[in-house]
Amino acid sequence: MERTGCAVVGGGPAGMMLGLLLARAGVHVAVLEKHRDFLRDFRGDTVHASTIRLIDELGLGAGFRALPQSRLSNVAVPVPGSGLVTLAAFDSLKPPYNYVAMMPQWDFLDFLASAAAAEPTFTLLMETEATGLEFDGGRVTGVRFRSTAGGAEGPEQVLHADVVVAADGRHSVLRQAAGMRAKEYPVPFDTWWFKIPRRAAERGEVAGVVPALGDRDALIALNRTDYYQMGYLAPKGSDAKIREDGVEHFRQRVAALRPDLADRVDSIRSLADLHWLDVRLNRLRRWYVDGFLCIGDAAHAMSPAGGVGINLAIQDAVAAAERLAPDLRQGRVRTRTLASIQRRRRMPTVLVQAVQRVMHRVVFVPLFAGTLSGDMLARVGDRTPFSIQRLLFFILRHNPVVKRVLPRVIAIGPRPEHAPGFARPLTVPPPTKLGAMTSPTDTAVDTAAARARLLELIKELAVVRGKVILSSGAEADYYIDLRRITLHHEASKLVGQVMLALADDAGIDFECAGGLTMGADPVGTAVMHAAADAGRTVDAFVVRKAQKSYGMGRQVEGPSVEGRKVLVLEDTSTTGGSALTAVEGVRKAGGNVVAVAVIVDRDTGAKEKIEAETGVPYLFAFGKDELGLD
Ligand SMILES: Cc1cc2nc3c(=O)[nH]c(=O)nc-3n(C[C@H](O)[C@H](O)[C@H](O)COP(=O)(O)OP(=O)(O)OC[C@H]3O[C@@H](n4cnc5c(N)ncnc54)[C@H](O)[C@@H]3O)c2cc1C
Repeated sequence: MERTGCAVVGGGPAGMMLGLLLARAGVHVAVLEKHRDFLRDFRGDTVHASTIRLIDELGLGAGFRALPQSRLSNVAVPVPGSGLVTLAAFDSLKPPYNYVAMMPQWDFLDFLASAAAAEPTFTLLMETEATGLEFDGGRVTGVRFRSTAGGAEGPEQVLHADVVVAADGRHSVLRQAAGMRAKEYPVPFDTWWFKIPRRAAERGEVAGVVPALGDRDALIALNRTDYYQMGYLAPKGSDAKIREDGVEHFRQRVAALRPDLADRVDSIRSLADLHWLDVRLNRLRRWYVDGFLCIGDAAHAMSPAGGVGINLAIQDAVAAAERLAPDLRQGRVRTRTLASIQRRRRMPTVLVQAVQRVMHRVVFVPLFAGTLSGDMLARVGDRTPFSIQRLLFFILRHNPVVKRVLPRVIAIGPRPEHAPGFARPLTVPPPTKLGAMTSPTDTAVDTAAARARLLELIKELAVVRGKVILSSGAEADYYIDLRRITLHHEASKLVGQVMLALADDAGIDFECAGGLTMGADPVGTAVMHAAADAGRTVDAFVVRKAQKSYGMGRQVEGPSVEGRKVLVLEDTSTTGGSALTAVEGVRKAGGNVVAVAVIVDRDTGAKEKIEAETGVPYLFAFGKDELGLD
């Protein structure tokens, strides 16, 4: 293979998700992974609620739930005198996304790899190590790599690509090759991972994270199927001392922190069973250069505090796929597209890292200085001096807003991403209960195919070239007659599917769809039918150009929109006038407009105008560029 659309380096959560999504967009994508399999211990084995929802949106929920896993339903701290105090109860979230799944990361990556393998444009190159970047002037035009199959180093080769994405983790070779340096934030601790057997009697579906605070160290236990995943936390730079003190000393520390597990510390056979994680917290200032983008840990290494690195890496991949796919379809990845990906993902990254830095300062620094312990937290309410930790602990335990928000912040995270329309089947099988299996329904629609076919039909049937006067009075060299699409026997159905996916993709929840008669009328009914095919309820409506002066004097016809969430539709827009009239009519009728969506946007300023005047997002299924119009 010498050329691909997108070369993704790194088959971790970010790289595999990006590969899958781009392949579903029909784009050629190759993922390069240096290892021969995904089998590695302690890579972080959490799958957060927002990722589980994403998997459902991709139509992969049944297969995912069939994988061996346990559920993490809360985070609790043992407090002397109070037993286990729950700080974040995920089961208070709305089901079915009310837990964090715990499964070996290799199972999850294998699962993504097999879903991606079903796509004809996907290639996974295992035992393929990226060594550097290929440049043409200042632009990255490919990745240098060599095969390491069978342990032998092959010759260096080049894979040319429209864009190279570094998803090669916290020690990213590629970001170094691009001359990028991450800003490092101080971290007071490292983590050592190991396993301890979990007895049959201790097993159960519901798991929890139980930290035990010691004197200058801490231990967390994550419940797994037949073992506990233990994380020992101690001040940075302690690895040499731990190894010098020997295994028996380490076993005693574990037993002291978790006396209930003292009877099985012998399962730590030697210090080779301890996997040291050099905890880092850093972030690139700029995540991209021309032709090259970093995502996941390659762009921002996360602290394990809160265990959110995998989720953030996956959400980066979703945002990247959504924005890269249209450019890749045209074989031209613009630097401004790469900038828009960073813009989208920077806020959640900065926010999570800020919270982690506060946790480091408030919890870990005092813990390792010996000024924080479980006993101290237990003394809330007595006459001991004020401390910020006790105040925080009190707020976490008792403030109703914090109790409601915290589980969401951890399990879902800030700015969760949704599956792009091109990646999801339009009829998504409903989420199943844990362990139950369903098979995807026969009615599942291939969104990418629907979109591609609709684009073909628009180009073939609706684009009329020649000088024309538009309804706005402006003159143009071409005219897009979308009635030839919205009233066409084949295209009408595709319009409904594509517009429904467009709204879903943007996270727009709506109950009514329609707009100004007559352009919007067939769009509204097409969306109504597509929603019904997907087992959903959406009513259509029609907005008259002026309020009727007879009968009931209504301007909005159809089932009432009053008090309901409304998606205002239009086939295309020039000045945005029709959509604005429709929004005004719906609002007068008591409807709550949540977005405006058009099939084709002609890049004539309608988006800016509509968003400024209505305050709701303006979405479009196809841009002028995709239609090949100047
Ligand atoms: C011990 C440990 C425990 C953790 N626990 C948790 C947890 O419980 N929850 C959580 O959310 N996060 C956890 N994390 C963090 C989490 O694993 C990362 O944030 C997340 O995996 C980042 O995903 P990624 O795809 O960006 O990078 P990675 O998962 O690091 O994947 C990078 C991939 O790139 C490959 N690669 C690297 N260099 C090259 C190259 N030159 N050529 C080809 N391939 C290459 C690597 O083999 C790897 O497969 C933990 C991390 C560690 C190390």
